[in-house]
Amino acid sequence: MRIPVRKSKRLALPFGPPVISVDVEDWPQSSWDHSLPITERAASNTRRVLALLSEAGVHATMFVLGKFAEKFPAVVREIHAQGHEVASHGYGHVEIFRQSQEEFTKDIRRSKEILEQIIGARVRGYRAPDFSVVRETLWALRILSEAGFDYDSSIFPIRHARYGIPDWPVSPVRLDLGNGNTITECPIATFHWIGKNWPVGGGGYHRLLPGSVSRHLASRVMESNPFVFYCHPYEFDPLELKESAFRIPLSVRLHQSLGRRWFKARFKSFLHRFGGCRMRDLIDAFDWPQFHLDSQRGHSLVRNPQQKELAAKIII
Ligand SMILES: [Zn+2]
Repeated sequence: MRIPVRKSKRLALPFGPPVISVDVEDWPQSSWDHSLPITERAASNTRRVLALLSEAGVHATMFVLGKFAEKFPAVVREIHAQGHEVASHGYGHVEIFRQSQEEFTKDIRRSKEILEQIIGARVRGYRAPDFSVVRETLWALRILSEAGFDYDSSIFPIRHARYGIPDWPVSPVRLDLGNGNTITECPIATFHWIGKNWPVGGGGYHRLLPGSVSRHLASRVMESNPFVFYCHPYEFDPLELKESAFRIPLSVRLHQSLGRRWFKARFKSFLHRFGGCRMRDLIDAFDWPQFHLDSQRGHSLVRNPQQKELAAKIII
């Protein structure tokens, strides 16, 4: 997607530095058993990420899980005090497609209240557990807007077994939800190659691809699109699964540990090369193209006719 916008003066990139986003959660609770308590490790790993960001002079957006914030409010205050954006990752890390609309409403409102009480400021952004805003759960955007969220960053425009909307716009779009509200959707970075979008925004993909390759792909994306990078504090902890007290099968341990040993070095190189910014900085810097999310027609995206000229220049 290409949008005619002003150029960033700081970097020779049309949309400025990449958005650095961190989903603040605990691996055993988020990925293994949602009923588990959050461990101390989640707090120390988050502080590791804060130290690396501070060393690089980069401000990031931290999507904090409500359950984490309840246990470690001091860490959330540190995140806020250091100039990072505190956003919501929901309360209990249950994927949206496993929740009713009522349960989802409760989960996001609870997480927003907890975070706002801790930092004393408004929380504007949300990211769903496991990118679970998919075609069948696009109703979540209306509920998010009604709960007072300005933006969402839960859609991965790729084809994947569990998540993703492969034909979703790869740059932020402002959505008119038909309920009098709008919300800006800010997708995770993808690289378009041989007719498909490939995930290059971070997480497992970033851990497994050689560092030079992922940095090269990222710079190619940044030539014409914004870049949203994401990671988790546990990815900086190579010993977690080895030392875990939970009974986790060896295959899961090996798969989940892969790439954690060199993740810190790779993250530092990425920040050194590109810098980084908060998601709210990107969202507020540009007039994103507007679409209408038509819930009558299976939540299809309809371009706003008043923006014909701008929309005609967009390549999705
Ligand atoms: Zn998560």
